[in-house]
Amino acid sequence: MPKRTLLHRARTVVTLQGPAGPRAGKAMDELAIVEDGSVAIDDHGRIAWVGPSDAVPTAHREDAEVFDCRGRTITPALVDPHTHAVWAGNRLDELELRLGGADYEEIFAKGGGILSSVRQTRGAAEDDLYAQSLARLRRMRAAGTTTFEIKSGYGLDLPTELRQLRVARRLRAAGFRVKTTCLAAHAIPQEAREAPGGREAFVEHVCEEILPAVVAQRLADYADVFCDRGAFTPEESRRVLLRAKGLGLGLRVHANELGSTGGAKLAAELGASSADHLLYLDDDERRALREAGVVATLLPGTSLVLGKPYADGRALMAAGVAVAVATDCNPGSCALENLAMVLGLACYGNRLSPAQALCATTHNAAASLGLDHEVGSITPGKSADLLVLDTEDYRDLVYHAGSPLVGAVWQTGELVA
Ligand SMILES: [Zn+2]
Repeated sequence: MPKRTLLHRARTVVTLQGPAGPRAGKAMDELAIVEDGSVAIDDHGRIAWVGPSDAVPTAHREDAEVFDCRGRTITPALVDPHTHAVWAGNRLDELELRLGGADYEEIFAKGGGILSSVRQTRGAAEDDLYAQSLARLRRMRAAGTTTFEIKSGYGLDLPTELRQLRVARRLRAAGFRVKTTCLAAHAIPQEAREAPGGREAFVEHVCEEILPAVVAQRLADYADVFCDRGAFTPEESRRVLLRAKGLGLGLRVHANELGSTGGAKLAAELGASSADHLLYLDDDERRALREAGVVATLLPGTSLVLGKPYADGRALMAAGVAVAVATDCNPGSCALENLAMVLGLACYGNRLSPAQALCATTHNAAASLGLDHEVGSITPGKSADLLVLDTEDYRDLVYHAGSPLVGAVWQTGELVA
């Protein structure tokens, strides 16, 4: 049970207080920092008060457990809005092939890549899949993330897609804040590649069997499609996303990772919550995303691991598009789990400022998941999901990217790491 707590006398409290909904442009640079600040947590795990340490009301000091935060920084806990964190096995052999020079699209064409994780995930019992995924989420939370979006997509058949989503929901029941996404249209499965008409039949199967079953069992909040070269065409993606929308799911799109392949425009056309990757993007597409209010979710860890270009974060900022940043944690193209480090990569790779990168991994990430009323900023009434950093300045997350600066992780008012 959470108890009344006072995180007292931090050198800085980076509150991220500001307008609701995704923030763009200058609003991403405004972090609403309190110097020498304190945060009071009530016995329901909510933020009761935040402000200068000398002004803490007596009511929030009496009977509260006090944590001395001198010399430290308090920020909102991180929100990871794009992960594939439920999978079985690993692709360590493929990692070595890639490091030896093989290209991801080549490995995929030979039945590796996503299809290798599909084989391993289909072969795993639900409890085993849960245990592997739980260990992963615990490591991710120790690095500062308390809220996760988790996609399916390593089943590509009805039983395994349902199993993956059930495991993601069990992780929520185990205390992680989780939104789930059905990504049955992640790749064309091997069996459909080999059968005549298999491709059309698979899209039909996703639309008429997998998505309706997922919705009937209340296992997903969103649907997603990998709309790109070698995956699904814009026409196939539109069909899947329209069906999902009709069933009441929110939309997210893997878009423009491998080329200008239509995903970003489709995300704008259908009013998706988020368009993700966006390595190849022109002015027209940026304008379309802004006008449709689609959050651009950047995944710099994947660019690093695959040796690909980085999405142009500065151009998105200049175009007034709200930007979020995520790990893309998945078994192949980026198994990085540390969103605090990926925040640093968003500065070095996507050219965001440290303030923009922090907003992109807290408030904007929460807004892209419809959770900004709950997490992503240190605002009275919101859940007390907080980090205590062992530094006086949050910019050290970028300066010393990857160093263990996250000293404590609080979730719903409880110390969880
Ligand atoms: Zn992804």
